[in-house]
Amino acid sequence: MALERTLSIIKPDAVAKNVIGEIYSRFEKAGLKVVAAKMKHLSKQEAEGFYAVHRERPFFAALVEFMISGPVMVQVLEGEGAMLKNRELMGATNPKDAAPGTIRADFADSIDANAVHGSDSLENAAIEIAYFFPATDVYAR
Ligand code: UDP
Repeated sequence: MALERTLSIIKPDAVAKNVIGEIYSRFEKAGLKVVAAKMKHLSKQEAEGFYAVHRERPFFAALVEFMISGPVMVQVLEGEGAMLKNRELMGATNPKDAAPGTIRADFADSIDANAVHGSDSLENAAIEIAYFFPATDVYAR
């Protein structure tokens, strides 16, 4: 497996539940390192730009409203196979379908308030990391 980087967002619902540390702990126990991080209250424009691929989907407006409803924690995770490893830790998009012990099974309430975002391909990871972090703000460790 190759050393990879992926973008993770702890969404407003999970930040409000005060489980940032619990989620970071899962990353660390799985061998993923936080190599960049910031808390941010996204503007509507930033959320729309981030989710531009979903612009035509029926849930787009609600997703944007949810993502700007409170601060989020944005981080870059680094590790062997980081992109898929993070997707496994997250669990399925709908928490009802998420495997026991995954972040969404444990902390998400619904398909729209589902605790975390994670890049779904290495190509998207590179685009999403660059969306939030200049290269100088990502730290090799
Ligand atoms: N989403 C939603 N309703 C849906 C499907 C998706 O609100 O029916 C939201 C949900 O927050 C999800 C995000 O849109 O995390 C992006 O959807 P995607 O299918 O890419 O899921 P993910 O990659 O986050 O598991």
